[in-house]
Amino acid sequence: MSYIFPQHLFPSEKVLIALGSSIGDAEAIFESAEKFLDENGLEIIKKSKNHKFPPYGGVAKNEFTNAVWEIEIQGLKEFSYDKARKFLNLLQKCEDHHGRTREKQWGDRTLDIDILTFGNLECNTTQLTIPHAEIQKRDFVLIPLREIL
Ligand code: AMP
Repeated sequence: MSYIFPQHLFPSEKVLIALGSSIGDAEAIFESAEKFLDENGLEIIKKSKNHKFPPYGGVAKNEFTNAVWEIEIQGLKEFSYDKARKFLNLLQKCEDHHGRTREKQWGDRTLDIDILTFGNLECNTTQLTIPHAEIQKRDFVLIPLREIL
């Protein structure tokens, strides 16, 4: 089943991230990621349930656990591209802290975090596309996203 979620209906004031894990104890990794983000000035204000999905993209072999979280960034005054890049850096540090390796693009991973929306920011660079370009194509994002909106 696929949900239709038109781009123009994305929530314009929210910061939403998608998490995925297919190696290790996903529940424990997500809990630890929450603690990491909290210690770095982010508050998780809404969480979807953790959903199980088959691997996506033809490279990963393990079942995935996926979730979507709404985040508040303490002290953030504007949703600029620079702030989004800093946010991405922090999310990548969180992935690295949880043993993420990057040898295969679509491979199994301990923790993957993508930015779905960053307030009203729209950008499309080699580093960052927001809103995330693949949201509408992926049930593993759309189903938890629908749950928290
Ligand atoms: P991934 O394999 O999902 O960890 O993503 C790899 C690359 O996607 C990162 O190095 C980012 O620069 C890029 N990227 C582009 N748009 C986004 C986004 N909205 N959220 C996270 N990463 C993104």
